[in-house]
Amino acid sequence: MSAIDLHDLERHYRTPAGPVLALNGVDLRVDRGQRVAIMGPSGCGKSTLLSVLGALETATSGQVRVLDTNLSGLSDEQRAQWRRENVGFIFQAYDLLPFLTAVENVALQAGVSRQVETDDARDLLDRLGLAAHADKLPDQLSGGQKQRVGIARCLVHRPRLILADEPTGGLDSVTSAHVIQELLALIDDIGATAVIVTHDPTVAAAFDDVVNLLDGRIVTVKPLHRKAGHRV
Ligand code: ADP
Repeated sequence: MSAIDLHDLERHYRTPAGPVLALNGVDLRVDRGQRVAIMGPSGCGKSTLLSVLGALETATSGQVRVLDTNLSGLSDEQRAQWRRENVGFIFQAYDLLPFLTAVENVALQAGVSRQVETDDARDLLDRLGLAAHADKLPDQLSGGQKQRVGIARCLVHRPRLILADEPTGGLDSVTSAHVIQELLALIDDIGATAVIVTHDPTVAAAFDDVVNLLDGRIVTVKPLHRKAGHRV
């Protein structure tokens, strides 16, 4: 079963200098549970692709089926609801609430029964190497630690689709490798599908597939450690 099915996807922007084709005929199929890295130079359309997959933006034309939903057929309100129910975003701007501890920031996102949510939040922080920092306030954490709290906050409500833009961008290479391994394992545990933008080839090498974009088009799809029965 495919989680993502894009056919001839185009996304144009109107600018004073004329139209920009941010995505120019993208065909992509990602099976459920697959973890895909998106690579490509600045301006090639990576963020636009994530925004369309996460229903933050609509396609100008083409087919966009994500988790069995035709996103082009939804109203703004329906897209917002679909997003809330299905998608976890990890962006570099991790705006944590300053008056809550790390574990409270994560638990707040889960929004279920209190004890379960705190246990889950602690467990996630532990797996991301933050056990000793769970009870600290954001301003007692480094940038990289806050970033990992942001990742835990995205995962705690178990989204079916995880979209991330440079989730390890601010981390040193050793921490980055650890966080990516844990992130991929956690994605596997919750059975989610993930599309993650990275500039780092060593990060990309840990994924099931790598998709290379150039000028709004997919130029190569490189299967790395593809799971049996899955295809992009
Ligand atoms: P990347 O994430 O790979 O850097 P983007 O998806 O941000 O690329 O951008 C792809 C192209 O679309 C670029 O040429 C960019 O300038 C343009 N673009 C992106 N967003 C907008 C926008 N809101 N208005 C106009 N042009 C945009």
